[in-house]
Amino acid sequence: MKDERAREDMQNKRSRGYVWLVGAGPGDFGLITLKGLAAIAQAEVLVYDRLINSNLIDRAPAGCEKIYVGKQAANHALPQPQINELLYQKAAAGKRVVRLKGGDPYVFGRGGEEGLYLAERGIPFEEVPGITSSIAGPAYAGIPVTHRECASSFHVFTGNFKDEERGLDFANLARLEGTLIFLMGFANLNYITQGLLAAGKPAGTPAAVISQATTQRQRTAVGTLADIEEHCAAAKLSSPAITVIGDVVNCRPQLNFFEQQQGRGVLVLRDARQSDIFAQKLRQAGLFPVSCPVIQIEPLDWQAAELQAALHKLSTYSWLVFTSPNGVKAFFEAMQAAQVDWRALGRAKFAVIGRATAQVLQQFGFGADYLPAKQVSDALGQGLAELLTPADNVLLPRSAIADNRLYQLLSAKCPVEDLKIYDTKICTEDAQELRGCLENGQAAYVPFTSASTVDGFVQACGGPDLARQLLAKSRAVAIGPVTAARMQQLELPIYAQASEHSLDGVIEVILQDLEGKEND
Ligand code: SAH
Repeated sequence: MKDERAREDMQNKRSRGYVWLVGAGPGDFGLITLKGLAAIAQAEVLVYDRLINSNLIDRAPAGCEKIYVGKQAANHALPQPQINELLYQKAAAGKRVVRLKGGDPYVFGRGGEEGLYLAERGIPFEEVPGITSSIAGPAYAGIPVTHRECASSFHVFTGNFKDEERGLDFANLARLEGTLIFLMGFANLNYITQGLLAAGKPAGTPAAVISQATTQRQRTAVGTLADIEEHCAAAKLSSPAITVIGDVVNCRPQLNFFEQQQGRGVLVLRDARQSDIFAQKLRQAGLFPVSCPVIQIEPLDWQAAELQAALHKLSTYSWLVFTSPNGVKAFFEAMQAAQVDWRALGRAKFAVIGRATAQVLQQFGFGADYLPAKQVSDALGQGLAELLTPADNVLLPRSAIADNRLYQLLSAKCPVEDLKIYDTKICTEDAQELRGCLENGQAAYVPFTSASTVDGFVQACGGPDLARQLLAKSRAVAIGPVTAARMQQLELPIYAQASEHSLDGVIEVILQDLEGKEND
């Protein structure tokens, strides 16, 4: 047995299996390193904990095996020895494994144990440090961990003593001049404050507790060593939280930049593949994407007879009409899969619904010949119909759930083939998270970017009545008239409709609204 294991270990050394122990940062998507993000982008296996920003998980390539090893309640988490073994087994099988951990992997993250387990078995690995919540959490609450004339050192402790023989040496702690920071200590806050007070730390020492730091749910309670517990209870703070004790807390009124920006959370309901573009645009605009996809784009069967037939007579179409970036992508992927010669499209013209679709078309090397002034399907249908003659032949590759009106407008002028190229499926995997984000006010804005996101949202909420209730704290924005009509049908409140029917148009509405709020 021992020999076998040794031989296995030898083989591993020659295999290409590799592990990156990556620090994901404290929660805010932007607080990961470039190196960490690059590691995720090439992972074959991604093993991740709770408290990891879901947008980071979405950065893994398609086909990456994603393994969640931490449940909300710590006692349901995969035990550490099993995580170690999982990393080892996946790497031993030759996989590129990313172990993504909150904050920094080596700060109370058991990253050291994982590294040792791998090192002992000859698995090559590296650690990619992360921004630890012990520093970033206070920073996002306006508290620098050191500050001239106030604290010239800081000390980070664990407040969780489950596995420890003894608790904290309060006599020693109370003598420290620097800032005291406690992780995992929320449940033991009373023990910590009482211990410090009993050891002689002045009752008036400033203290703060920061919950869900660097996320849109961040909340901070401020007080003194004597009353911080009451403040936490009044503010209904919950774990995970960081406790900071020291005069640096007094900087908060001037340095609290982050909480002043709250109310900028925007729910992203689209398919994870597409939502990345939306999330990126939101971030560029200074908004905070909160990703909870309720729809999923799936290509239809490329072997289907109807699709194969259309692909093999492409040269007979004079116009190709695309109503979404997804349609363009699915169409060209199908062409590639069917090994159709792209020169078949040499004489075809292209009509698209809007700029985003034109951009994706351009990525495949084709310019748009027609784009309506208003980015809605009626404008596309009416405008294009004016250009068509009975001699034209139109191919309309689009979603299986598209409505009939565009087809009717065009087929009044010439033959049109309505080709179902992808399907939009509702997915409710993130339903619980979605409801949570709405209940706690984390998603100040809920943009609906298609009628299908409305349907997915309502289903994830558990029906129209619950959807209406859950939207009470948020502002719902419709991208255009078709989406707004679906919202009206389901009696969802519409706070605003974008005047330009695009993602940029949606962002514009939100920014204008925020500006209005600031000027109030
Ligand atoms: N390696 C992590 C810490 C892991 S221990 C790091 O470097 O940040 C887990 C503890 O970290 C939690 O109990 C909590 O005290 C703290 N923590 C991590 N992320 C946090 C966050 N976003 N907000 C508040 N506390 C957080």
